[in-house]
Amino acid sequence: MRYISTRGEAPALSFEDVLLAGLARDGGLYVPESWPAIGADDLRAMRGLTYPEIAVRVMTPFLGGAIPEADFRRIVADAYSGFEHPAIAPLVQLDERFWLMELFHGPTIAFKDYALQLVGRLFDHFLAKRGSRVTIVGATSGDTGSAAIEACRDREAMDIFILHPKGRVSDVQRRQMTTVPAANVHNIAIDGSFDDCQDLVKAMFNDPAFRDEMALSAVNSINWARIMTQIVYYVAGAVALGAPDRRIAFAVPTGNFGNIYAAYGARAMGLPVEKLIVGSNTNDILDRFFKTGEMAMTPVVPTISPSMDIQISSNFERLLFDLHDRDGKALAGQMRSFREARSFKVSAAQMERARALFDSHRLDDDGIRRTIAETHRETGQLIDPHTAVGLAAARACPADPDVAVVSLACAHPAKFPDAVEAASGIRPALPPKLADLFEREERLTALPNDLGTIQKHVRDAVARREAA
Ligand SMILES: *Cc1c(COP(=O)(O)O)cnc(C)c1O
Repeated sequence: MRYISTRGEAPALSFEDVLLAGLARDGGLYVPESWPAIGADDLRAMRGLTYPEIAVRVMTPFLGGAIPEADFRRIVADAYSGFEHPAIAPLVQLDERFWLMELFHGPTIAFKDYALQLVGRLFDHFLAKRGSRVTIVGATSGDTGSAAIEACRDREAMDIFILHPKGRVSDVQRRQMTTVPAANVHNIAIDGSFDDCQDLVKAMFNDPAFRDEMALSAVNSINWARIMTQIVYYVAGAVALGAPDRRIAFAVPTGNFGNIYAAYGARAMGLPVEKLIVGSNTNDILDRFFKTGEMAMTPVVPTISPSMDIQISSNFERLLFDLHDRDGKALAGQMRSFREARSFKVSAAQMERARALFDSHRLDDDGIRRTIAETHRETGQLIDPHTAVGLAAARACPADPDVAVVSLACAHPAKFPDAVEAASGIRPALPPKLADLFEREERLTALPNDLGTIQKHVRDAVARREAA
């Protein structure tokens, strides 16, 4: 199995190299050269298997032999051993047509754990094999930081530095990052905005001497391995509902288009999926695209579903690559003009292909609050604001009555207690494993928005760890 860049210039890489590289050298994103096939009989043979067993079957072809089978089984079993529900990604029936797939049973109670718990271990595996170490740096506006920290904590070959904007993430989100008692975890509160944090991370990567000295790396949402691990829960959920002998659609609240692209990948492998329903919040660049065929940037508006407050959906490039029949040059030209003109349009034929599979819906904050209240009243389920965006989209987009529509519950309601309480009158309690979160000791360093200061801090902290 080889991976090729969406921009057509970077060399094709193996799984190991794609995992450790993240972004391609030509600025593109890596995708598999061809999709491994899952047939109807393969799906039927997965009935009754555990989530880790299904995960091994789905992901093994993507590895191209990079990890011995017994090792991979052990790594996958270990990655999901800390999850709180035996089904890992359980389904909850809402009524005769609609289902929720709960993706909040991992350590940080949001869906990014499903990918990052495995990706952290895969990094560790290959770094140990190479006898090398890396310094992971990242910026977070909330969820990604804690999921990345939980994935990398206590791993010998890694240090992880997460920058967050001081005073601008929720108390739950900050404490999930700063109370992790691991020597290789370093939280930095920046005097500035999320964009400042992101600029600092970019500047560290753009300093070649520093990048090489520290062996900088990232586990961000464009990493191919994250997509691969997310394909698993679409397959597992569909099989549990009776696929391939039952018609299924998925509704996904999206920001970066990562999670829903994994659903596209599952379908490309052969999972029968009738429809993929995109849920946008007020930052509706994707909903506007699927309605008009034009991708046009607008400024980001803060909402009560903050993990989807983004301007550009990076992973959309992977879908666009296929809409261009995998012509990297054509795509690179379109991405260049997107950066300059801040918009682009696809052809009517491309739009028709996209619309054959995708549908979309937009929900503003009032709609989110209404959906949380209605869902609680009608089904007894308390859902988080991101889940509400997906569920409202599922209900708004037409589907045949015999299609089971599975909506992804991407975070536990207690991760966004204020918004959920304002909508439903009920303050959701943190699950038992996090119940003492507000009594735990916090560790973080507050630093000014200054590249030199941050670089010195990173260098010193890594040197101290190596001396220890
Ligand atoms: C990250 C996140 C999203 C958006 O996922 P994408 O893969 O970026 O589309 C939605 N909901 C929650 C709770 C998240 O943490």
